Amino acid sequence: MALTAAPRHQPDMTARYDNQDGRIRGRKLQERRLRLWAQAKGCCASCGTLTTFPDGFQLDHKVPLFKAGPDTDANCQVLCVTVKGRVGCHDRKTADDMGQKLQVAIGDDGFPI
Ligand SMILES: [Zn+2]
Repeated sequence: MALTAAPRHQPDMTARYDNQDGRIRGRKLQERRLRLWAQAKGCCASCGTLTTFPDGFQLDHKVPLFKAGPDTDANCQVLCVTVKGRVGCHDRKTADDMGQKLQVAIGDDGFPI
């Protein structure tokens, strides 16, 4: 009986990089981000906070992809991100979409942030 090495686990990179789910990626996604951010004049669609490009916002799908929402400009909106001490609208909406509650962050003093 010959000993053979067990096959090493190979991550399925095609699942990560393919575009079979119809979701845009790469340069087209970055173009969409800039276009929609400019249309929104940089403001969060939920709270109106002025966001910065490219790190101060995230594109959100109004109807989430997992609820069969389309990956189109019309279904996307600019939402602010979580920054230190302040929960962003995108995290709040995502938790809401998933039927979850956000955990309250507790500061060093033992009080909610
Ligand atoms: Zn916001």
